[in-house]
Amino acid sequence: MTEDELKEKILSLAKKNPKGITVNDITAAHPDLTSAELVNTINKLLQQGSFDIFNQGGTLLYRFKNQANKQAVKGADNEEKVVFNLISEAGNKGIWIRDIRVRSNLANTQLTKVLKNLESKKLIKAVKCVNASKKKVYMLYNLEPDRSISGGAWYQDQDFESEFVDILNRQCLKFLQQRADKIKCNPRGPIIGRTQSYAAAAEVQKYITDLGISNVKLEVEDFITILNTLVYDGKAESTVYPDGSKVYRAIEALIPAPGIVQVPCGVCPLINKCYSSGLITPQQCVYMAEWLE
Ligand code: SF4
Repeated sequence: MTEDELKEKILSLAKKNPKGITVNDITAAHPDLTSAELVNTINKLLQQGSFDIFNQGGTLLYRFKNQANKQAVKGADNEEKVVFNLISEAGNKGIWIRDIRVRSNLANTQLTKVLKNLESKKLIKAVKCVNASKKKVYMLYNLEPDRSISGGAWYQDQDFESEFVDILNRQCLKFLQQRADKIKCNPRGPIIGRTQSYAAAAEVQKYITDLGISNVKLEVEDFITILNTLVYDGKAESTVYPDGSKVYRAIEALIPAPGIVQVPCGVCPLINKCYSSGLITPQQCVYMAEWLE
């Protein structure tokens, strides 16, 4: 990694953590970094004024100094500056209007006006929360909302993209099955073939990216989610290598799940109240009727 690339990576980590990052955060994100590289890069970033440095309980905290934003709010009135700073501090998780009102001490109408002004200057934006349709949070205009707010790649305008997830699910399984087929025809024997049939989430990510079936950029974490669902569905298994990396391979169920396993009673919360007579009976049970259809 070149020095500039390293600087970019550390800056991007700091931007994602507006409250600041420690040396431990950087080494956790980039474990292959040597101490010399780390110290050298942090010093360069401090010299070029990219960071504010704080001492928090004896630990040094590096906070990204957003010069562009400070410049943007220059000349604005005091209320706008206060609101802008509160929104800026909230980072990409945003801040709820009620919290801005409490912390800024501004009246409702005044705050609405300030927010409108900042929005029209494209300094901030309102983002709907995926887990609360009526809740909007404000964040800086140029920030990418956190996954907890946007729902990540699986949500489009707050709607869960089940069809998209289904296609990805099938394509990921197809990739793993193609790998697993190598077991059958590997000339070096079944054990090596089995090992080779495991794939890391990053390999699946490359395969799907090359297929070009997704318009949104999918991260490795997105594929880990999909691959884990394949494991839960019994279509794949996972293992962890000694270096801590997790890999996946397609499996075939030895025997198909017998019908009795799928009886709704197994997961029914009313099972202790269900008798042959009374209010809750198998004869009147809608779940049972659906299962028998
Ligand atoms: S018969 Fe219906 S109500 Fe009774 S335990 Fe089974 S699923 Fe639940």
